[in-house]
Amino acid sequence: MDDRLFRTAMGKFATGVTVITTKVGENAHGMTANAFMSVSLDPKLVLISIGEKANMNQLIKESGKFAVSVLNDEQQDLSAYFAGQIKEDREIEFDDFNELPVIKDALVNLTCNVHEAVVAGDHTLYIGEVTDLRVTDGDALGFFEGKYRKVV
Ligand code: FAD
Ligand code: NAD
Repeated sequence: MDDRLFRTAMGKFATGVTVITTKVGENAHGMTANAFMSVSLDPKLVLISIGEKANMNQLIKESGKFAVSVLNDEQQDLSAYFAGQIKEDREIEFDDFNELPVIKDALVNLTCNVHEAVVAGDHTLYIGEVTDLRVTDGDALGFFEGKYRKVV
C-alpha cells in the first residue's frame, strides 16, 4: 500500500494537537504529537505513539515519565516549532507541573508515569498512568487533512 494514501486516509481523522514533554536530569524536551487518546478511567490511563527515530522516544525510555499539553487555538506556532518545522533555536519557558516541564496556557496539562511501552512497527506506544492534571478554558487547535483548523 502506498504511504501517501495511508497518510491521506489517516489525515481524515480530525484530532487536536498536543506537545509531549519529558525531562532527563535538568534537560527538558518537547515534541508535537496528535497520536494521543484516553484509554481507561480506572486506573486513569492515556496513550501516545512516538516514532522510533524521534529523540523523544529514547528520552521517555530514560525518564519513565512524560507530560501531555493539549494546545489551544493560539498555539499553532508552538506546534510547528516542536515538530521541528521552524529552523531556529528558541528559549522556551516551560511551566513546571508535578516535576515535569509543560506548555504554559495549554487547555490541559497532564503528567504520567509510563505504565507500559509496546513497540508497534516503527512507533512505540506509551501507555501512561496519569499522576496529575489541570484544565483551562479556551478553544482547541485542530488538525485535519494535514492542516491546522479552528474547532467551532
Ligand atoms: P526534535 O526534532 O528533537 O525537537 C523538535 C523541536 O523542538 C526542535 O526544533 C527542538 O530544537 C525543539 N525543542 C525540543 N525541546 C526543546 C527545549 N527544551 N527548548 C527549546 N527547544 C526545544 N510524531 C510522532 O512520533 N507521533 C505523533 O503523534 C506525531 N504527531 C504529529 C502531529 C503534528 C500535527 C505534527 C506537525 C507532527 C507530528 N509528529 C508526530 C512529528 C514529530 O513532531 C516530529 O517528527 C518531531 O520533530 C520529532 O520529535 P523529536 O523528539 O525528534 O524532536
Ligand atoms: P500527514 O499528511 O503526513 O499526516 C496525516 C496523518 O497521517 C497524521 O495525522 C497521522 O495520523 C498519519 N501519519 C503521518 N505520518 C505518520 C507516521 N510517520 N506514522 C504514523 N502515522 C503517520 O500530515 P503532515 O502535515 O504532512 O505531517 C507533518 C509531519 O509530521 C510529517 O512528517 C508526518 O510524518 C509527521 N506526523 C507524524 C505522525 C506520527 O508519527 N504518528 C503523526 C502526524 C504527523
